[in-house]
Amino acid sequence: MTISRCLHYFASSEPLQPSRLPRTFKAAFNPRELRDPLVVLAGVGPATAGEAARLGLDSLGDLLFHFPRRHEDFTSQKKIGELKWGEEATVRAALQGKPVIKRTRRRNLRLVQAQVGDDTGYMKAAWFNQDYLAELDSGEEMLLRGVYDGMKNTFTVKSHEMLGKEEAGLHTTGYVPVYPTTEKISVKRLRGWLARIRNLAPLLPDPLPASLRAGLELPLRADAILSMHFPRSLEDFKAAERRMIFEELYLMQAGLFWHRHHYERLRRGSALGPAGEKTRGFIGALPFNLTAGQKKACSEISRDLQRETPMQRLLQGDVGSGKTVVAVYSMLRAVEHGCQAALMAPTEVLAEQHWLKLNDMLRGLGVRLDFFSSRLKTAERKKMLESTEAGKVDIAVGTHALIQEDVRFRSLRVVVVDEQHRFGVWQREQLADKATSGGITPHVLHMTATPIPRTLALTLYGDLDVSTIKHLPAGRRQIKTWLVPDSKRAGAYDYIRKQLDAGRQCYVVCPLVEESESVQATAVEAEAGRLKDSEFAGYCVAILHGQMTAAAKQSTMRRFAAGGIQVLVTTTVIEVGVDVPNATVMMVEEADRFGLAQLHQLRGRVGRSSHESYCLLFGDPKTEQARRRLEAIVKIRDGFRLADIDLEIRGEGQLFGVRQSGLPDLRLARLTRDQELLILAREKARVLIGGDPSLKRPENALLRDEIAKVFGESVDWLRKI
Ligand code: ADP
Ligand code: MG
Repeated sequence: MTISRCLHYFASSEPLQPSRLPRTFKAAFNPRELRDPLVVLAGVGPATAGEAARLGLDSLGDLLFHFPRRHEDFTSQKKIGELKWGEEATVRAALQGKPVIKRTRRRNLRLVQAQVGDDTGYMKAAWFNQDYLAELDSGEEMLLRGVYDGMKNTFTVKSHEMLGKEEAGLHTTGYVPVYPTTEKISVKRLRGWLARIRNLAPLLPDPLPASLRAGLELPLRADAILSMHFPRSLEDFKAAERRMIFEELYLMQAGLFWHRHHYERLRRGSALGPAGEKTRGFIGALPFNLTAGQKKACSEISRDLQRETPMQRLLQGDVGSGKTVVAVYSMLRAVEHGCQAALMAPTEVLAEQHWLKLNDMLRGLGVRLDFFSSRLKTAERKKMLESTEAGKVDIAVGTHALIQEDVRFRSLRVVVVDEQHRFGVWQREQLADKATSGGITPHVLHMTATPIPRTLALTLYGDLDVSTIKHLPAGRRQIKTWLVPDSKRAGAYDYIRKQLDAGRQCYVVCPLVEESESVQATAVEAEAGRLKDSEFAGYCVAILHGQMTAAAKQSTMRRFAAGGIQVLVTTTVIEVGVDVPNATVMMVEEADRFGLAQLHQLRGRVGRSSHESYCLLFGDPKTEQARRRLEAIVKIRDGFRLADIDLEIRGEGQLFGVRQSGLPDLRLARLTRDQELLILAREKARVLIGGDPSLKRPENALLRDEIAKVFGESVDWLRKI
């Protein structure tokens, strides 16, 4: 024990008085505080503590939350006389004589052998390369974990522990925890540390209110944490795990509801009157009837808009389910009351598409639309800004930059956000705040381009109300989807040419290139060149990719929409939102490299008219995951089901990060597996915040602290509460 270690430990607390420290300070020191750094543990110096910090372990409290990845079932303790051939077991035995080192024929392999016995018999125990065991004396008792070979009456030891030590049995009996480790911090060390601090667990406050815990039969947090590490039985572990997963989900959901309450309390919206002439005119003039899903979404939105609380609603619907109509309806609800609305898309191309479409849909309704393009000349832009501020523009369309820059509205009441990159909780809040003018926060409708599994929606969008359009408009033709083997490639081109000759159009999506956008652009150009000279000679072939200027992209999209381009060779830039009903073929190269959601979105670009549509997928799946993705996309049309399958195939690790969303990490919960607990946690959290919206009641004080902790104190709204 060196003074420097003490210095390290006390550095941040009180001044050190070396003369008064007993020499055996550390050995005598009992960990007392969850906040204590790891160096208070005997045998842990600054270097080890530094290494532990890499695992996120700074304090003893952190250690308690360093849960094992799994447990080894070492419950099978046997007497020597009971051992069966080939069986793995734990045996308690004493050395009968000193172990001896034996050389083997392999140069780097030495064998240590010893006779061991208990009251039922004896056998030879064998270790490899553990010369230090030769130091042991006859008579010493130990626990041995290993495999028995009856022919040689030999027990090959995998792990052993000397008895008589404090930790005896820790590594060889019962359910033995297996932790994530680093090179320097072995699993045995971690077990030792945890065994020594287990008495600290009761110091952990339990954030779950007692009534909730009792109602759900959840164990106390301290008990659960100990059972996570050292379960007495499988059932014990299961109960502990359920409790900890529930806690994780509950804290997140309660935080989301709490935040939402706070959002609503701090912001004032403006209640719009009931639906009027313009919305009726718009709906009446549509060439189709709204689907049940669209109607329901519209009425849910309408109800929100008539409240003073600013709406925060998510509109979910599969590709082609008709979300645009609902978005337009929402915006008109503001316009018909003399207020303004804005529609924001993630890219300029999409924004322009929306703008063109809106012009079309709203013709004759006397709605003044404007498109905030990044290409506007300074003078044009200035004029537009002025008319928006003066309230002469009813609906402004643009990218997300629309409200982030200098655009001011006279009376912005409804904002529709077409999200491509899903926004996190705090980004959504910021966006609403930026759009606030004259102290009035607009009603915000978020639209997602990709269906997401319900569990994920409850998490990532847990702070929002959700409207879902479940079904596509009736009479949609199914898009015929094929996985085309390379031997039939020529035939596929034949097929496409027939479509082109019949007046239809086609997309060709080039392989996904990960290196860079410019490499991708080159690939698109090369493929377009090849097709022009071979398969589609005589047809009008054009390209679209991310490296083109916004102006070039736009003019290409316009020409394609007008039918001037027959084959559009492109990248995933056309993944979302592009709507050209006359396009009936989607051909994807190396489809095995695309994600399932991406393929579904790409396929959604066709099948937008009464013409039969086709999706031709090329590619040879090289992994099991890729094979499952292609199999799913060929068989399944429903975007929500595909989203679930996607989650299953990919696992949650690679999923769009809960992390990016600004929510706490889920360390134990798995959304697919723990769906029931999630729904339960959400319901309980809803009831909690309903009864105590600011978490002010004393019985919720611990809960409140814990939520603040997991959401991070840096989060704005927590500081404002
Ligand atoms: P998405 O939900 O993918 O944004 P869109 O709003 O682009 O879908 O709608 C897809 C197509 O379906 C559009 O061409 C639109 O005019 C059409 N559509 C929308 N609603 C209906 C409906 N109720 N019946 C028939 N067609 C509809
Ligand atoms: Mg759309």
